[in-house]
Formats: sequence, structure tokens, C-alpha cells
Amino acid sequence: MLNIILMGPPGAGKGTQAKKLIAKYNIPHISTGDMFREAIKEGTPLGKLAASYINDGHLVPDDVTIGLVKERLSKDDCANGYLLDGFPRTIPQAEALEVIAKEIGREVKYVIDIETPKEELVRRICGRRVCKKCGAPYHIINIKPKVDGICDICGGELVQRPDDNEEALTVRLDAYVKQTKPLLEFYKNKGLLTTFDGSNSSDLTPKLIAFLGE
Ligand code: AMP
Repeated sequence: MLNIILMGPPGAGKGTQAKKLIAKYNIPHISTGDMFREAIKEGTPLGKLAASYINDGHLVPDDVTIGLVKERLSKDDCANGYLLDGFPRTIPQAEALEVIAKEIGREVKYVIDIETPKEELVRRICGRRVCKKCGAPYHIINIKPKVDGICDICGGELVQRPDDNEEALTVRLDAYVKQTKPLLEFYKNKGLLTTFDGSNSSDLTPKLIAFLGE
């Protein structure tokens, strides 16, 4: 079963690769970042709480994030696999995930770590634009839409995420190094970790598919 975690710093290309992999393998893409952004858009209590952390680059508290993922992983569409993107991000989240996954009989099989040099992360994040409506990613230099400021796919407005600025990115990268990077050792010790070079995003997808199997 393809029970997968995608890891890597902000801007490594987790979301981009996730979209390609779910199209190929027909498993749900579970992005905690997307779930929080959806809640923010809807103005729910979860959204209000999440926004107070996300907008300046901090992690949302573990209990909130774990509860959200537990509910999502229990849904029927995860029965044949799932692709977690951006979760877990802390050791307590990884420990909670072990318990949840065991309980529901859906244990993690692959942890894919996408490594990308810091200068490239900064370049990608600061130039990133996303469609307000469908979330499709663009970049002001290398992934331009056909019409300036408009999504090619759905015609939605392209905007910059509130946390995609240099100030918030510094906080996010710091959170990655201090809180998320220790997970690499955690999963390496369990024999689940495989690291890929994320500098060239179009090269990476065929490599991931070759690794996961047809
Ligand atoms: P992402 O879209 O994965 O870059 O996530 C955007 C933001 O959502 C992060 O910078 C965090 O503030 C929050 N977030 C997403 N996933 C998690 C998580 N697993 N734990 C805590 N905060 C998270």
C-alpha cells in the first residue's frame, strides 16, 4: 500500500510533486497547509486559530494539527494509501502518527525527503504566486501564467501567500531546521527514509515514480 510521507523544507516542491503523484497513483493528497488555508478561507474557528500562527511563519500547535490529521486519515478514501504533505513536522506529530496509523491499519511505508539548497528555496518562495481559487502554483520568473495575474486553469486571481515573504520564510526555515529536520533521523532509524535532490523539479517526478513503482 502506498502510505507515503513527503518531507522537505518550504519551497522544496512537496506540493508540486504531490499533485503529480496523486494523479498517477489515485491516492488522496493530505496537505495540512492546504487544510489550514481552506479553514482560513472559510473563516472557521480552526481557520482563525491557524492564521494567527501561519501568517508569521510559526507552526500550528501539535494537538490541533494531530486532531485534524487523525480525522482525515480515518476516512475511507485512505484505505488504499495516502500521501501526507507537510505532516508530520515535529517529533510529537510523528509519534502520534505512528499510533494513529497502527490503530487504523494504515502504517507509513515510505518517507520521501526532498532536499533543495537554501538559495533555491528563497528564490522559489519569494517568487511564488498561487491561484486564489484552485491553489495552482506559479512563479514570477519561471512558471508564468499566459495572462498576467490570472490562473491558466480556472481563471482565478493569482496572489502571494501571506507567509511567502522573506520575513516569514526566515521563521519557517528556522522551524524546519529546529523542529522538522530531527524527523529525518527518526525515520532513518526506522528504515523508512529515502532522500531525493529537489533542485530540478521536472527531473524529480520520474525518479519518484521509478522508486515507488508503476
Ligand atoms: P505548507 O503549506 O505545508 O507550507 O504549510 C503552511 C503553514 O501551515 C506552515 O508554515 C505552518 O504554519 C502550518 N502547518 C502546515 N502543516 C503543519 C504541521 N504539520 N504542523 C504545524 N503547522 C503546520
